[in-house]
Amino acid sequence: AKLDGRATYRFFEPEMDARMQARRRLELDMRQGLARREFQLHYQPQLQLEGNRLVGCEALIRWNHPERGMISPLDFIPLAEEIGLIVPIGEWVMRQACRDAMTWPTPLTVAVNVSPAQFKSERLVEMVMSALAASGLPATRLEVEITEGVLLQENAKTLQTLHRLRELGVRVSMDDFGTGYSSLSYLRSFPFDKIKIDRSFVSDLSANRDGVAIIRAIAGLGKSLGMTTVAEGVETHDQMERIRTEGCTDVQGYLISRPVSATELLAFLSSEHPP
Ligand code: C2E
Ligand code: CA
Ligand code: CA
Ligand code: CA
Repeated sequence: AKLDGRATYRFFEPEMDARMQARRRLELDMRQGLARREFQLHYQPQLQLEGNRLVGCEALIRWNHPERGMISPLDFIPLAEEIGLIVPIGEWVMRQACRDAMTWPTPLTVAVNVSPAQFKSERLVEMVMSALAASGLPATRLEVEITEGVLLQENAKTLQTLHRLRELGVRVSMDDFGTGYSSLSYLRSFPFDKIKIDRSFVSDLSANRDGVAIIRAIAGLGKSLGMTTVAEGVETHDQMERIRTEGCTDVQGYLISRPVSATELLAFLSSEHPP
């Protein structure tokens, strides 16, 4: 039996090895990248439909790797999450986003994505308080975006953390709404300030009539619960007009602006006619 086991193990070994090595490499690169300040934040504006007013910006991390160039968060956040490295990376994001927001000429909110592993760490609330204090940003200008993943590990502690953030004045948004299994029941367990309707529903708008019905239902739900509803991934005027008609309050997407560097954002906000 022992011999058989060995033979099987050997058979898979080279492939496993290559994957493990790639992971190990990425992990080392991420640790080094953090120390060497290779991460950057880009910002994507959010527009309130009523009055066409910019109300906030979402911070989105980028990794400018010395050899591989710009790496998308989709290619490193999952591993960072798995090995817990998201905690120091997320702390850097929070501190940098609060500092950047303080340089903006108008008091827009800054939205920061916070992952499940960060919620498990004991220090999250203290870290947020420290980032606010160090930057001078009022808590009411900070928004935390969480996905269902955070609430999946729902327990008294997760809810307590959310409530503590809210008591500070920090807003809480439910990201990627509608993509998980229990989006609705989470709205019952926690009073979010904002619902972000996942991009997939927005792209469905042009494709079929059910898409419209879903957006209408979520917008109505948000309205009755007193929550802001943001449609994500708005790329066309047609989509924006439908979203307006169905009653969503805000939009975010390439139509308004792609995510831009902090420098570009500042130039844009300081220009005489921001959109
Ligand atoms: P997300 O939080 O759902 O962010 C929205 C994503 O949609 C961003 O991708 C954004 O660039 C993209 N997007 C915005 N408008 C449009 C549009 O009109 N069309 C299309 N096709 N895409 C649009 P990005 O920047 O690649 O980020 C991907 C994901 O990585 C984020 O999804 C978020 O889950 C994660 N992420 C990014 N930054 C952070 C961070 O600082 N911390 C954590 N924990 N996760 C992050
Ligand atoms: Ca987000
Ligand atoms: Ca999203
Ligand atoms: Ca997403």
